[in-house]
Amino acid sequence: MAKKTVKRIKHVPQRTCIGCRTVLSKRELIRIVRTEQGVLVDASGKAAGRGAYVHAMRSCWEQAIKGPINAALRIELTAEDRARLKEFMATLPAAEATGQTVQDQETNMIH
Ligand SMILES: [Zn+2]
Repeated sequence: MAKKTVKRIKHVPQRTCIGCRTVLSKRELIRIVRTEQGVLVDASGKAAGRGAYVHAMRSCWEQAIKGPINAALRIELTAEDRARLKEFMATLPAAEATGQTVQDQETNMIH
């Protein structure tokens, strides 16, 4: 019963948006990281520390900041963290720009 049908598909790291719970490739999400300086937006995606991923759209950030981010990063956001994240959130579009529809559907099916 050994599983030998390992498909050599291109490996794209998949992450879940903690706002809407959609699974997407890492590149389409923004990483938030917990550091000694507090919870920061990780623009490089490579900062050390426990990270969480959120869509680049305001609705998901609002959701995430309400609660899921605390569980994802295993902390309680401080007022300062919250303010910092909200400041970043304000720079994001209210909803995601379209153009990824086909890919999104495929991702949902795999999930
Ligand atoms: Zn999302």
